[in-house]
Amino acid sequence: MGGRTPRIPWNALLAWYRANKREMPWRGSRDPYAVWLSETMLQQTRIETVRGYFARFLARFPDVRALAAAPLPAVLKLWEGLGYYSRARNLHAAARRVAEAGAFPRDAAGWAELPGVGPYTAAAVASICFGEPVPVVDGNVARVLARLGAEPLDPRDPKVRAALAARLRPAVAASGAPGDFNQAVMELGETLCTPKSPRCAACPLRGACRAAAEGEPERYPARRAPRAVPVRRFAAFVVRAPDGRVLLDRRPEDGLLGGLRELPMAPVARRPREAGARRALAAAGLRAEALRELGAVAHAFTHFRQELYVWEAVGGEPAAPREGRGFARPGRVAVATATRRALALASARKAR
Ligand code: SF4
Repeated sequence: MGGRTPRIPWNALLAWYRANKREMPWRGSRDPYAVWLSETMLQQTRIETVRGYFARFLARFPDVRALAAAPLPAVLKLWEGLGYYSRARNLHAAARRVAEAGAFPRDAAGWAELPGVGPYTAAAVASICFGEPVPVVDGNVARVLARLGAEPLDPRDPKVRAALAARLRPAVAASGAPGDFNQAVMELGETLCTPKSPRCAACPLRGACRAAAEGEPERYPARRAPRAVPVRRFAAFVVRAPDGRVLLDRRPEDGLLGGLRELPMAPVARRPREAGARRALAAAGLRAEALRELGAVAHAFTHFRQELYVWEAVGGEPAAPREGRGFARPGRVAVATATRRALALASARKAR
């Protein structure tokens, strides 16, 4: 890879962006807190989903001091349903560091030292808020560049991204508007130069694009064989107190979904029948007068798929105290998505 990108009319791209950019609540802002928050929420999450979370988060924590002063469970609760909770924990830890320092970092190198801030977010905030001429290379940008040069490359490879960033750097500097430049390339990748059906006829870079000239731009970047995703199966148990509270376990702070609550559960090899559910009930440290099957829910994580086979434990209770286990109202604590779905299933069955 290297040197294959033809002369690109970047000014045409900037003009296209300024005329066509989509309205977003954070767009146009140069407030580092708002831009950082939006970039963090947008990682792995669709724009339409982020809009509501962004507005609620800013209403509750309007600036970095308010976020730093908040207890972590309140932050996690507001993040509930957005997924990838390490983002919220890192955001909170970074806010505390910024509040301690008394100011935001002024360049990408300083931003990259904050917890959870990678090269992409650091470059985005530094270019948009402080005008630093650093290129942003996310999957969208990598796809656009791969197509412009008709290069079969792997956009997830950090070395490839670093090489693409080096290639873009002179153009970002020459643009005189690094924030707009970076957002323009990302916007092109998100709206016209999409993975499956690029709309080349409307693209301001069409005349310089080798992949479009070849006639099959969607061939780039190289397709990767889909990964086989392992499945982790659990029997999960709904145990209710007479006042309606539900028995929940708190996950360890330092792992996947750290600090979130979930139903008590135990691993199973396959969808259990009642005898298997009884064994899982004991393995989960519970006892019950009877078990009633409620159904199954699933949730996709980056590296595996989780399946919960949900049972109501009638007259259930903990067999012995367990750290992090207790009755709570699910609406008042931050709950893992699969457990939220399982509880919705349980409520729907109850309502029948
Ligand atoms: S011409 Fe088509 S393939 Fe090339 S950058 Fe534009 S949208 Fe992407």
